[in-house]
Amino acid sequence: MHWSLAIAKDIVERREEKKHVLATGITPSGDIHVGNLREIITGDAVHSALVDMGVEAKLIYVADTFDPLRRRYSFLPEEYETHVGKPLSEIPDPAGCHTSYADHFLQPFLDSLADLGIKIEIFKADEMYKSGMYVDVIKEAISRKEDLSRIIEEVSGRQVSEEWTSFNPLCDACGRITTAIVKRYDIDNEEVYYECECGNNGVASFKGGGKLAWRVDWAARWKILGVTIEPFGKDHAAPGGSFDTGKRIASEIYNYEAPYPIPFEHVLLKTKVVEGTKAKVTAMSSSRGTNIPVHEILEAVPPEILKHVISRVRPEKHIEFNPSLPLLYLIDEYEREIGGIGRGIAEKIPFRHLLTLVQIARGDFSELLKVINRSGYEVPKDKEEIKEIEEKARYVKNWLREYAPPNLKFELQSVLPIEELKNLSEPQKTALKLLTPELQEGKTPNADDWHNKIYEVASATNMEAKEIFKAIYVVLLKKPSGPRAGWLLASLDTEFIRERFKDCYR
Ligand SMILES: [Zn+2]
Ligand SMILES: [Zn+2]
Repeated sequence: MHWSLAIAKDIVERREEKKHVLATGITPSGDIHVGNLREIITGDAVHSALVDMGVEAKLIYVADTFDPLRRRYSFLPEEYETHVGKPLSEIPDPAGCHTSYADHFLQPFLDSLADLGIKIEIFKADEMYKSGMYVDVIKEAISRKEDLSRIIEEVSGRQVSEEWTSFNPLCDACGRITTAIVKRYDIDNEEVYYECECGNNGVASFKGGGKLAWRVDWAARWKILGVTIEPFGKDHAAPGGSFDTGKRIASEIYNYEAPYPIPFEHVLLKTKVVEGTKAKVTAMSSSRGTNIPVHEILEAVPPEILKHVISRVRPEKHIEFNPSLPLLYLIDEYEREIGGIGRGIAEKIPFRHLLTLVQIARGDFSELLKVINRSGYEVPKDKEEIKEIEEKARYVKNWLREYAPPNLKFELQSVLPIEELKNLSEPQKTALKLLTPELQEGKTPNADDWHNKIYEVASATNMEAKEIFKAIYVVLLKKPSGPRAGWLLASLDTEFIRERFKDCYR
């Protein structure tokens, strides 16, 4: 049984609600990465399992756009120092292409979710506050301040200071949401009087003039949105942590039952192995620059693969994400056990095989169609099917450029590499010569034919087949190794091979 089904069954058994709301969310303070994606994929998998069981459920996503910028991250220009403490929705886009800082990081991620085929209802925290959705829960939080302090102290074991307030006003002079101190509340008029570090004294509305402290905000949000299930990073699930606090705030302040929790482990990024170093495994982090943004990895792998990479692992286990060879193994596994990628001919050509074909075609698409044809696939006339091939080839090219290990890359040599040829033995050259009679006019061997022929020649000349493979790679690719030789030879123009092999023993 897939873990998502086991969780869905447990939810139905333990909870009384007949309709479920699964909440996910993230703070768009930087690139939203593959580690962050785990939350959505986990929620999506459980949501699908519930729906398959006939349970009414919806998946939502809350973007914490009203959270302050915590510090100037290394990817931000110096002048962003002045924006620290302001809500992300109120800071300009550092790249200048979106309406705000928050949108700049959020939008590519939302586009990726659409690519991943995840249907999700989006809420932006700043809009929720500005529209007044929070007014009632803010009033409740303000009038129960003593209880909130006590709960936080009891659960976290941390002393809460006298000045602590559950509501953080947004200063209308400096724009920060982290520096004002509340002086007085006017609950009837839904306003708060504050004094800011910048010297400003002002009045802020409960409707967008500030936000709840985050532990309170989390519980308040469950009530506002009717959240019944929530996946979150295991850090929040620690005893005395934010989920424990939220649970008590929800029940004691808001008379609401906390959602069914689905804590999940981190996604660790295995970085590229640079020569002379060992691969490093680090937790993905936007602020430390150790991450791969979701929209970037989706340039190099099809969405179904990315989904598979994450959903195949149970939430309580960490995922070691290595976009290089291990990712290719997962693609192989997916194509073998679950289904081909793309439709029509594209679906029939394995990703790994296309790696070879794309490199033989040197990135030229019309040449690629010829190469595909020579490899024994009938190239379709249908425009849609051609588009599917183009799409899959685009993933292949991007993966090759960004993540492929050097031993998978090769360059078909347009002329015979004379220097390297000198390193081949006479028997190796003879073997190449013996391979060519197969190439008489009208005969186009397929990959299996080539493979068998190589072994025939090996036994006839008393050579090891690997010596012949090496010779083939050297004269075609100028390196001692390469893709499966049968595939390679079958996808090349026979006349080209004949000329090349002939030149070797001339
Ligand atoms: Zn932008
Ligand atoms: Zn201020």
